[in-house]
Amino acid sequence: MKQEYDVIVFGGGTAGVVAAIQAGRAGARTLLVEKNAILGGTLTVGGINCPALFFAWGRQVIGGIGWELVAATLVETGQRLPEDGRDPRPMRLNTALFAALADQALLDAGVDILFHTMPAGVRMAGGTWTVELCTKTGLQSCRARTVVDATGDANAVGLAGFELIGAETVQPGTLTFRCSGYDPDTLDYAALKAAADKAVAAGELLVTDIGWREDGPEALLKRYGHNANHFRAPDAQTSAGRSAAEIEARRALLRMYRFFRKQPGLEAFRLDWVCPEAGIRETVRIRGKQTVTVADYESGRVFDDALCYAFYPIDEHLHDGRGINTRPLKPGVLPTIPRGALLPADSRFLVVAGRCLSSDREANSALRVEAPCMAMGQAAGAMAALSARTGVDPEALPLQDIYTLLREHGAVVPGDTAGA
Ligand SMILES: Cc1cc2nc3c(=O)[nH]c(=O)nc-3n(C[C@H](O)[C@H](O)[C@H](O)COP(=O)(O)OP(=O)(O)OC[C@H]3O[C@@H](n4cnc5c(N)ncnc54)[C@H](O)[C@@H]3O)c2cc1C
Repeated sequence: MKQEYDVIVFGGGTAGVVAAIQAGRAGARTLLVEKNAILGGTLTVGGINCPALFFAWGRQVIGGIGWELVAATLVETGQRLPEDGRDPRPMRLNTALFAALADQALLDAGVDILFHTMPAGVRMAGGTWTVELCTKTGLQSCRARTVVDATGDANAVGLAGFELIGAETVQPGTLTFRCSGYDPDTLDYAALKAAADKAVAAGELLVTDIGWREDGPEALLKRYGHNANHFRAPDAQTSAGRSAAEIEARRALLRMYRFFRKQPGLEAFRLDWVCPEAGIRETVRIRGKQTVTVADYESGRVFDDALCYAFYPIDEHLHDGRGINTRPLKPGVLPTIPRGALLPADSRFLVVAGRCLSSDREANSALRVEAPCMAMGQAAGAMAALSARTGVDPEALPLQDIYTLLREHGAVVPGDTAGA
């Protein structure tokens, strides 16, 4: 680790990896700080290995470095690349290979990577960020011209003292797992549902331990688990809240396991694999210089300072087995993400990428998915590098300069007619 960087990126998830690669490729001396031991964030440690959505209405709308990593992972495992997004099968990435390819792409871009590290202090003095890092061997500090917060939880923005917005009730989390040891075609789902209702009434099980809705465990068992439960996860942007969420997620898993093993046909039910980290859908969002509302999102508003597209249905998971508030976009609608939604209000030389962008809750339920996070990451990395090089705040950078850099690295810029 050096004492001086042009750009420090906090968080090496879907957004942060791409931001750091973009900044490094643009020539910025870049440090990526990640609390875990592996890159990819929710895509890898959360087991959500089906990044959505790079294609809309028959063409590619998100490309660039994120797509490059996804495509490289698919090629590595001999999978076919979707050409226009009409292929209904979701992509499933090998998470270890995705992370290994991300490691290499960062190193090739000259980025320093620091795992097992978190920020302990982030403050601006004399136009430069001084960042205190909590490393395994104690606190260390370094300086940077521009900071990118891609922690998903806006941890660096919070440490720097800018406002964060939360909700009284956030979306539930999910602990992804794979199970086996039974034949889903021979199970009596009506009897299972009746047994589950009894266990819920007896307080041995929560309805959300075995599915998102109250219709029982059929979907979970037929899909051999995966993204199949819900648990409450308040304040998961903090260490205490996140600890409580992880414990509750494993408790839910244990309740499910014990319940299934008592049911006919499920006596040999096995948990083959459980993600090391619970998947968190929602914590806090920044208050940005611009905020994307659900009306902006669903009308496909093209912001004057749009940096990238986003495309996904409204997808708000509800508590207590009430399922999902989901609404597809109307035909032809293609939302955009403005620069102002990535810049905390009143901040300078500070950029956000990923699910904590400035947006209302419903818009955020769609904007948070992985392809838009990657697109935001590339835009944030481009702005951070340009700001560090020119000394111009990200808000004042000429849009055309950002677009030119993004296009040089394969990104799709709103208004471009061709795909990446
Ligand atoms: C259960 C579930 C199912 C989902 N399903 C889908 C789906 O099917 N398709 C889809 O595209 N999206 C899906 N999503 C949404 C998507 O996976 C996430 O919203 C998206 O990956 C967020 O990306 P991010 O880069 O903002 O954050 P993350 O991927 O969470 O990355 C944040 C990174 O920052 C690190 N970090 C956090 N705090 C700190 C800190 N203080 N210091 C240093 N590092 C830190 C984390 O370890 C992590 O690596 C799902 C999400 C969940 C939880």
